[in-house]
Amino acid sequence: MVIKPYEETKKMQFFRTLYTRFDPDEEQRQYYDGLKKGEEGERIFSELLREVNNGSLILHNLLFEQLNSLFQIDAVLAAQKILHLFEVKNFQGDYYIESGKWYTGYGTEIQNPVSQLRRSEILLQQFLKKHGFNLKIKSSLIFINPEFTLYLAPRNLPIILPTQVNRFLHQLKGNPFKPGKSHFTLAEKLISSHMEENFSDRIPHYHYDQLKKGLDCATCRSLNTIVKGSSLICLNCKHVEKVDLGVVRCIKQFQLLFPKKKMTVNIIEDWCASMVSPKTIRRILAKYYIIKGFGKATHYVESEPKNLEDL
Ligand SMILES: [Zn+2]
Repeated sequence: MVIKPYEETKKMQFFRTLYTRFDPDEEQRQYYDGLKKGEEGERIFSELLREVNNGSLILHNLLFEQLNSLFQIDAVLAAQKILHLFEVKNFQGDYYIESGKWYTGYGTEIQNPVSQLRRSEILLQQFLKKHGFNLKIKSSLIFINPEFTLYLAPRNLPIILPTQVNRFLHQLKGNPFKPGKSHFTLAEKLISSHMEENFSDRIPHYHYDQLKKGLDCATCRSLNTIVKGSSLICLNCKHVEKVDLGVVRCIKQFQLLFPKKKMTVNIIEDWCASMVSPKTIRRILAKYYIIKGFGKATHYVESEPKNLEDL
C-alpha cells in the first residue's frame, strides 16, 4: 500500500523550469544531471516497489531532522516487524571497492554509499526510538541501473545489484501481512515529520532579461513551439495541447522563478514571447487569479485553486 507516493521533488521542478530558459554553466549542468539521474532511479524503483503490494506500507521521499542532522530517505517499507530502508542509486558504468573505499572505473573516489546508508539508518533508528516505535530497521542500497557493474564487492554488504532487484522484491512480496494500527501511526508520524528541502544555496544567480521567453512544450520542454488557433504545437516532438493549458503552465513557471515580481498582462505576454494576445492572457489570468489594483497598477495574485479541467 503506497501511503506517500514518489513525486518529483520541488528542487527538481525548480531546476527543470529554470534550465528550460537559462543555460547552466558546466558545474550547474553536472549538478542538474546528477539530480535528474537520481530522481529517475527513484521513480523507476517506486514503480517496482508498487508491485510488492503485500499489505506493507510504502513511503517515498522523506526528509527529517534528527539531532540537528538532516537525513533524506528515498523509500521505506513498513512490514510486520521490520522497517525496510531503501537508498536508491542510479549509477551507471563500472565501479570498484578497494580497502573499503568506492571508486569509479576511472579511479576517482566517490562518497561511500554504504556509509551514507548507515548514517541514515542510525538517524532513523534514533527517530523511531524517540517516538516510541519498536521496529527493526533493515537497510538496503538498491542499484537500479542495468548498466551498473561493481567489482570486488564483499558479499556481506547491504547492497542489491541490478540483477538481484527482481528477486529481492519477489521475496518481499512473499511475506503478506495486514498492517496494524501501529504501522499506520508510524506512517503518519513519518509524514508529519517530513520537511521540505531548502536548496536556495544551489540556485545560480539569474535575471529576468537573461531568460528565454516563450511557451514550452508540456512533453519535451522545448521552446520551439508555435500557436495555431487554440492549439500549442511543439515543432520538436509534435506534441499538441490547448494553448490555454500552455499559458497556465508558463504563468506557474513565472511565479516559481519570480515569486516577488508582480504579475501583469504585459509581463506575462512578454514571458510567453507574445505568442498569445494580451486579450487571451487577460482572460486566463482573470479566470485563475484575483485581480488587484487599477489602471497601470493592475496585477494578479494567487486565488484558490480552480479545477484545471474547466478550461
Ligand atoms: Zn515537445
